Amino acid sequence: MMTRTACPYCDGHGYVQLLLGGSETCYCCQGTGSEKEGENRR
Ligand SMILES: [Zn+2]
Repeated sequence: MMTRTACPYCDGHGYVQLLLGGSETCYCCQGTGSEKEGENRR
């Protein structure tokens, strides 16, 4: 089974909303939208 955990930082969107406006690629998951578990990787 593979449990994909959505990145808590970007809520699984892969990007984060900047307070100044616009959006930026989530550096936590690097735009993948999921936490780096290392299990769901080809
Ligand atoms: Zn993220």
